[in-house]
Amino acid sequence: MSNFAVGIDIGGTKIAAGVIDESANIISRYVSKAHAGRPPAEVIAASVEAFHAVMAQAGLQNDAISGLGVGFGGHVYGAAGLILTSSNMPAWDNHPLRDHLQARLGVPVVLENDSNCAAWGEYRYGAGQGSRYMAYVTFSTGYGLGIVIDGQLYRGATGTAGELAHTVVQLDGPTCTCGKRGCLMSYASGLGISRMVCERLEAGEETLLRQLCGPHPERVSGEVVAEAAQQGDQVAQEVLALAGRYFGVGLSSVVQMFNPDRIVIGGGLAHIEEWLMKPCFAALNENIHPVLAHSAELVYSKLWEDAGMIGAASLVWEQRS
Ligand SMILES: [Zn+2]
Repeated sequence: MSNFAVGIDIGGTKIAAGVIDESANIISRYVSKAHAGRPPAEVIAASVEAFHAVMAQAGLQNDAISGLGVGFGGHVYGAAGLILTSSNMPAWDNHPLRDHLQARLGVPVVLENDSNCAAWGEYRYGAGQGSRYMAYVTFSTGYGLGIVIDGQLYRGATGTAGELAHTVVQLDGPTCTCGKRGCLMSYASGLGISRMVCERLEAGEETLLRQLCGPHPERVSGEVVAEAAQQGDQVAQEVLALAGRYFGVGLSSVVQMFNPDRIVIGGGLAHIEEWLMKPCFAALNENIHPVLAHSAELVYSKLWEDAGMIGAASLVWEQRS
């Protein structure tokens, strides 16, 4: 086993790559503007470029690494090396990404869902260390979940366990990116927040967001909404509180279903303490059975945006039973 591995995290807004050693020290890193929403050929080309960039920076040849771990935001069947589907991108359906990269790079490649990678990174090297039944959630463009049970990443029959965002919480609710209606994602995610902002703007409500969003309210970030909330904007405060409450409902489902001893919370939106996390924790407490109250320790991520890349790389060393 080599002491180095490469991780590539193909997310919704960027591709982050790095070489790590077995203590998860980041030896080199590279970020590409390409992302999972681009056509497969472009994403593969950007990943190959990222791989070569971090290897060159670290001064390593292929035989010096154990392999490459790749995290991808979508329904991923890692054991088969397939992307099953990615929201709104039919070109990814049943795409053999692992084998494409393996053929191009000549190193062993492990493919996994991005939240699972981040969960594994936190479990091995971050805020999940010492936990036995750990759940990792990411509050970002989507709402990701990864589960580690007794030292094993829990993947499910076809690799897609933990697709929390696409559980239905409202019958006949808003149409989700997956095509279903009323998914948790419609509220508890960056996409949900911008959807709710658009809805309030279209209803003609008076809000600072009208100026702050500019011509593309559908792309407004959680940070901009938080800024408006901080300035006393009621619409912004209500949107974030509703998103937070749904995030909390999601957490309550995780607690009810998996009874974790620890939940690690990551993702950019988790920094919106006052307007989003407070309502989230309140909703969590309101929606779990009293016998489960305080059963899970709630902690914030330690690796934050590096969790996916570090986790992807270290999955190369994972001992599967
Ligand atoms: Zn959905």
